[in-house]
Order: sequence, then C-alpha cells, then structure tokens
Amino acid sequence: MKRRLVLASNNAGKLREFAQLFKPFAIELIPQGQLGISAAEEPFDRFIDNALAKARHASKLSSLPAIADDSGICVDALGGAPGVRSARFAGEHCSDTDNNQKLLSLLAGDLNRKAHYVCALVVVREADDPNPIVVETHWDGEIIDEARGQHGFGYDPYFYVPEHQMTAAELSPERKNAISHRGQALVQLMEQLEKDPFFQKTDD
Ligand code: IMP
Repeated sequence: MKRRLVLASNNAGKLREFAQLFKPFAIELIPQGQLGISAAEEPFDRFIDNALAKARHASKLSSLPAIADDSGICVDALGGAPGVRSARFAGEHCSDTDNNQKLLSLLAGDLNRKAHYVCALVVVREADDPNPIVVETHWDGEIIDEARGQHGFGYDPYFYVPEHQMTAAELSPERKNAISHRGQALVQLMEQLEKDPFFQKTDD
C-alpha cells in the first residue's frame, strides 16, 4: 500500500517536481490544499526553519508525514538579503520586476556582486518528528546589471553563473534543474530517503 505524504505547498510546478522525485517510492504525494490546509506562517530568518515550520504545520493538520521547501537568494554585499524575504523583497504584492529593480538599485556602484541561491527541504514523518530529514544546498553566482535570457523566473535573468558563462535564465530548464540549488537539494533528499526505512521503494 502506498504511504501518503503531504506537500506543504500548492504550487503546481513544485507538485510536478516532487511527484517525479517520489515516483520510485511507495508514496502518494498530496498537496496540502487538497486536504483544506492553508499556508503556514514563515516567520523565521533561516530557510531551514521556515521549511521545518511548514512541514510540521502540514503534518499536524493532516496527521500524515509531510514535505516542505523554502528557497531564495542571498547577496553578499547586502548582508545576505533578500534571503527568506526574496519573494516579497519589494513589498507584499510585488512582481519579479519590482524585486529585481530593488536589488539592482541597492547594488548600484557596488563591485561585490557575489550571490547564491539557497534551497532548504524538510521531510517530517510526523508533526513532532525529533529527527526530520533535512537538506540545504547553495548555487553560487553573481548579480549583473542587464537582464539576460528568457527562461526561469524570479532573479534568474540577473543571476550570472561564471562556470557556464550564462545567467540562470539563459540556461535551458533541464540544464538549470541539473545544477540549481533546487536540483541539488532534490538529489540529496532522494539519497537520504533511499536510506530511510520509513520510505520503502517499490519494484514497479
Ligand atoms: P519559494 O521557494 O517559492 O518560497 O521562493 C522564494 C523566492 O525566491 C521566489 O519567489 C524567487 O523570488 C526566489 N527564488 C527561489 N528560487 C529561485 C530560482 O531558482 N530562480 C529565481 N528566483 C528564485
């Protein structure tokens, strides 16, 4: 019988990504909205703490195991900002363009352009799980002043990856997924799940 796992997000893209990841496991992934669970507060300064809060919230209200993620961009010259406030950097209902404009204006004239994306992933077997499965990954780059590329979302057109001499928005989606913070986190999570007796693999 398949074990049910609640996804603490209603984002269709994330559901697709995670459903793919869990295919080899005897796990049915259920978005929290399907169970009438609303989004949790994300009051913390660390990605991992917010991901943990979201996973515990979904698990508590569903009485099922849960998975949650939190991600964003940290810019060295801004002391790590926008960090956990990446989605709403320029205000509560702001667009990606607003966020990027704010970022560039704060960095105007600054020669230190180092930045990294962060992705935190947490799985709890139950709401009070004292030993959650935790993964946190970084993807290094630099902020440039001119947008480049049509793929991706958020800060991608301004996030230049020196190794590939392209912005994240110039990389194809497949290439980005293979090297990004989220891609790396998913691989690491899978490695942990494979070792965990709670998450049995199926043969089919
Ligand atoms: P969340 O993971 O949906 O909470 O994303 C938080 C915010 O971080 C997004 O709204 C984006 O602004 C930013 N972000 C996270 N990952 C990426 C990425 O891969 N590309 C561009 N922006 C990202």
